[in-house]
Amino acid sequence: MTYQAKRPLWKCPKCGARFVIANMWHSCGKYSLRELFSKSDPHVFRLFRKFERLVRACGRVTMIPQKTRVVFMERDRFAGAYPRKSYLICGIGLPRKIRHPKLVKYEAYAPHFRGHLFRIESEKDFDADFAALVHESYGVGTQEYLKKEKPSYRRRP
Ligand SMILES: [Zn+2]
Repeated sequence: MTYQAKRPLWKCPKCGARFVIANMWHSCGKYSLRELFSKSDPHVFRLFRKFERLVRACGRVTMIPQKTRVVFMERDRFAGAYPRKSYLICGIGLPRKIRHPKLVKYEAYAPHFRGHLFRIESEKDFDADFAALVHESYGVGTQEYLKKEKPSYRRRP
């Protein structure tokens, strides 16, 4: 167990958002969901709310609307959503590569963070399998990988 590997979070004095890295750049409450979804059809916002509920069901979460996306963080960013005109792109980080019928983009940013983007057009796309993937992604947010015995992933102060 490497509990010590988890450093205390830095709290932004302006907006109260918490980050792993001190002074990490973020939008500091500058953007709103309303603006972000202003060019999307109404059902896209409803899809987002459903995704948000799935994410929040995992545990403590900070939601940050940005210029082109909404990101969800626990200790680290693990999920996000990108509004489009008639559909929603949902992104989650996973510690493995997966296959999925709605997957539109995959990128391995780090061994513990493999970015997966899904094109979501219907609430039916948020099925039990998808909810399980969101839960797995939450482990990326809580930095579960730091607990594993993989010294190369550990961050030391
Ligand atoms: Zn801030």
